[in-house]
Amino acid sequence: MNWIIFGTIGAILLCFIPVLGWFLALGMVFAILYKTFGFRDTFLVGSCPACTKTLPVDPKTDVFACPVCNSVIAVGEGRLTIVKLD
Ligand SMILES: [Zn+2]
Repeated sequence: MNWIIFGTIGAILLCFIPVLGWFLALGMVFAILYKTFGFRDTFLVGSCPACTKTLPVDPKTDVFACPVCNSVIAVGEGRLTIVKLD
């Protein structure tokens, strides 16, 4: 949240500097967006429903195996569920 507030103020102040400031402001906006949303898009953090170990989860994958207990876990709508294979 601090990144959004201070970054926005910084970007607005940079806009008062002609040309160079505008480019810096644009870079600042991208930096804020990356800091705010960048990691959330690539990785989620969830806990394994079988062993409750906290795991980094790639939201692009549908199914993965827990490295701790080897349970097969399905990724769906931001939550993790166990897939029973038998
Ligand atoms: Zn597990």
